[in-house]
Amino acid sequence: MTSQLALTLRGHGGFEHYLFRLKLKDSRFCACYLAKIQNVLYVVEKCHMFLRERPTSSVLTAPVLNENGEWTLGKSIVMV
Ligand SMILES: [Zn+2]
Repeated sequence: MTSQLALTLRGHGGFEHYLFRLKLKDSRFCACYLAKIQNVLYVVEKCHMFLRERPTSSVLTAPVLNENGEWTLGKSIVMV
């Protein structure tokens, strides 16, 4: 996992919501639709400005911490 991906998955990146929280931006809303907060979930799932970067479908498998304190692969989610 790259550091950029880790930041993105935590919602720490160039997202308006995060930058607004740090008082680096005046607004937390996305430029495409001023009623929508631009956070990682909105950008990945909905924002049309990032449509070309979005794959038509992909499988996302998130790591989870099991009861033994070990990282394993969790459920896979197919994103269409
Ligand atoms: Zn947008």
